[in-house]
Amino acid sequence: MPTIGNAQIKLLEKLCNAVAVSGDEGEVRTIVLEEIKGHTDQVRVDALGNVLATKKGAAKNRLRVMVSAHMDEAGFMLVAEDGEGIYRFETVGGVDVRQLVGKPVWVGKNHTPGVIGARPIHLTTAEERKKSIPLDQLRIDLGPGGKASLGDRATFATKFLRSGPAIIGKAFDNRFGVATLIELLKNAPPNIDLLAVFTVQEEIGPRGAKVAAHALNPNLAIAVDSTPANDLPDWDGEENAGYNTKLGLGPAIYIADGGTLSDPRLVRHFAAAGDAEKIPYQFRQPGGGGTDAGAIHKARAGIPSLSVSVPHRYNHTAASIARLDDWKNTLSLLHASLSLLTPALLESERG
Ligand SMILES: [Zn+2]
Repeated sequence: MPTIGNAQIKLLEKLCNAVAVSGDEGEVRTIVLEEIKGHTDQVRVDALGNVLATKKGAAKNRLRVMVSAHMDEAGFMLVAEDGEGIYRFETVGGVDVRQLVGKPVWVGKNHTPGVIGARPIHLTTAEERKKSIPLDQLRIDLGPGGKASLGDRATFATKFLRSGPAIIGKAFDNRFGVATLIELLKNAPPNIDLLAVFTVQEEIGPRGAKVAAHALNPNLAIAVDSTPANDLPDWDGEENAGYNTKLGLGPAIYIADGGTLSDPRLVRHFAAAGDAEKIPYQFRQPGGGGTDAGAIHKARAGIPSLSVSVPHRYNHTAASIARLDDWKNTLSLLHASLSLLTPALLESERG
């Protein structure tokens, strides 16, 4: 049974501190290829940059199970130079522009430090301070003499921190998934052929997963991702009854999201595996957002798909908070559920 210890947390730290905004996933891909060496039967990098790694099982009738985790993160791209180390930029993926002002960033492959500068309170009027600042008035400032190239990606400059049972960092979406899939490959269940895919370009519409699912044509697929937890108590101290997922309740199994209706047989199978193995899990409340499953389930002649995510607060912002035990339980639930998969599942009633 794989588990989360110091080595896995170190790996997650390395993955979170990497800069891999959509379309420029090389830094994370290098870590993945290094980590999975010797744990696969076949590895290749496809035309878009997806890592396709196969670990064959030993059972007689084996399902071919695609498990995907996207390597990319939301962030920024430099698009024009104003001189003096100052650059205009665009957002890549879902980023709330209101939250950018005053944040430090890392730019490009060398993680060149910069800041999305803010005019200080001394230089603004009371009227201006009521409004958020639009993207076209923001710049990434590398300081005088700072140099970057147009097209360089940037992320929030947030270093991974551990604090007791919690961790704080950037890009938990989806380095949680990447680290989980690496551990699954290292502990691949022998009853299935594990088709592990570390995908590109999920945050801009699941593009890498689309071509990978077409190429692999699996019997079924699981997208491993991470999802926002909107679980803060209400300001009046009352319980927040409207939470979609909650820290501490374990992996979030999706019934539906903005892009996919999960295969009901897979939902039941994962819940039953959690019950049997006493692994906590929660059902993510239906709503917006999506995962690689949104593309995978529509590939070929249709591929039964499910998403399972690690919950964390403040997704796609400069700093997220998560519980290590939710991650550990996500890995456990995935391993237990995959280990119990047989071809009979796909012949059972959908319900
Ligand atoms: Zn994601």
